[in-house]
Amino acid sequence: MVVVGGGFGGLQAVAKLRRLPVAVTLVDRRNFHLFQPLTYQVATGALSPGEIAYPLRAIFKRNRNVHVLMAEVEDFDLEARELHLGSAEGVPAPATITYDTLIVSGGSRYSYFGHEEWSDHAAEVKSLESALTVRNRLLSAFEAAEWESDPERRAAWLTFVVVGAGPTGVEMAGQIGELARDTLRADFRSIDPRKARILLVEAADRALTTFPRSLSVKAGRSLEKLGVTVLTQRTVVGVDAEGVAIGGGGGKPERISSRTVIWAAGVTASGLARKLAELTGAETDRAGRVTVEPDLTLPGHQEVFALGDMVRVRDAAGGSTVLPGVAPVAMQQGRYAARVVRDRLRSRPTPTFRYRDKGNLATIGRGAAVADIKGLKLSGHLAWITWLVVHLWYLIGFQNRLLVFVRWTTSFFTHGRGARLITGQNVEDRGAMPRPSSKD
Ligand SMILES: Cc1cc2nc3c(=O)[nH]c(=O)nc-3n(C[C@H](O)[C@H](O)[C@H](O)COP(=O)(O)OP(=O)(O)OC[C@H]3O[C@@H](n4cnc5c(N)ncnc54)[C@H](O)[C@@H]3O)c2cc1C
Repeated sequence: MVVVGGGFGGLQAVAKLRRLPVAVTLVDRRNFHLFQPLTYQVATGALSPGEIAYPLRAIFKRNRNVHVLMAEVEDFDLEARELHLGSAEGVPAPATITYDTLIVSGGSRYSYFGHEEWSDHAAEVKSLESALTVRNRLLSAFEAAEWESDPERRAAWLTFVVVGAGPTGVEMAGQIGELARDTLRADFRSIDPRKARILLVEAADRALTTFPRSLSVKAGRSLEKLGVTVLTQRTVVGVDAEGVAIGGGGGKPERISSRTVIWAAGVTASGLARKLAELTGAETDRAGRVTVEPDLTLPGHQEVFALGDMVRVRDAAGGSTVLPGVAPVAMQQGRYAARVVRDRLRSRPTPTFRYRDKGNLATIGRGAAVADIKGLKLSGHLAWITWLVVHLWYLIGFQNRLLVFVRWTTSFFTHGRGARLITGQNVEDRGAMPRPSSKD
């Protein structure tokens, strides 16, 4: 067995397969599993990278039938049942490996509506590295504003634009609000961080469109309390080093000066989806997802499964269903693929895949969250505690659970964020910072 991707889908597949009499090789370009739902907390200094990531080798250290291989999957030869590999992060890797059964869960990445050049100025929080870039940019914006004497330039440093009001955008904007109004409140001498302007731009008519309208309204109110302005029915039509242009307000696009833009809109499937589609004749949709059969295999290739963010599933009527791009979908699909393998070993049939939707959660800030659990609509503290428990439960590694629990409890009482560090070279990435001498 070869499993590509140690994210949510791949990890669940291997966790089930390790109990079967099969040899499993897990291939990932990273040597760790990343808990993406909390990367935005790294981006805002609430958590440290090591608390939301866990080495893949450590997860499977007791399973002698599981091998972990750090490599970049570059291509597939489905006839020869072979993967073509390249080195990841400079680590040498074998050129090929073979398989009897292949499971691919390569995930997705953010797309910039066909303007990849915007990514230079609008970082996202999908990977640990990009979350650290965002952290550097956020914190250095406050540092820069402290020394900037020109009011317009200072305002640009203190204007934060988050693009996309799905759960990640809402969580990100809420955290920036808490950082500015709460954590950093007393840290500066020339600026008042509470005056920071935080804009959350959304093309739809409300934030959190995957939630019932009543919960969107509640989330909007919680965001307002944190100083976030939600701009609905507005689309970003330009991003550069000096700010964003926002259309949809009638007339010419509005120009907003901002030195910190965060991207949380639109995803596109991993390039592995397109490769598999080309090799099997499977369809892809506009987001690059490959269409898999109801049992998650590729057409004509019962031995190849694809799952998670990179697929949509053919339904009984011959159409296809796009399931939400969330961790539970990938996890259930990963477990399902392992179950099919088990049933094949026992010569038993497996019913087709069915997603069990357990609900939707999003947090806005301390004590504020919304939850839609099988029609039960929760908000405020109850939703927030549900959110905390669910995230701690699914976090990999006992030590990480404990550390995050302690961090969250401490922050709750102290209003602090221990990982407010500016590291790396990202400050220079955005052009010259104002010099201390520019201060009056
Ligand atoms: C910022 C953010 C916040 C989110 N918040 C939530 C949330 O609160 N709740 C929720 O349910 N979902 C959330 N999601 C969505 C959730 O993380 C995804 O739906 C889930 O990760 C999908 O799992 P996957 O296995 O398809 O892909 P991933 O978990 O992304 O795993 C893909 C893996 O494949 C590896 N890989 C990819 N290509 C290659 C290659 N060519 N060679 C080798 N390895 C490769 C990657 O390194 C990665 O480890 C969030 C996503 C993001 C980005």
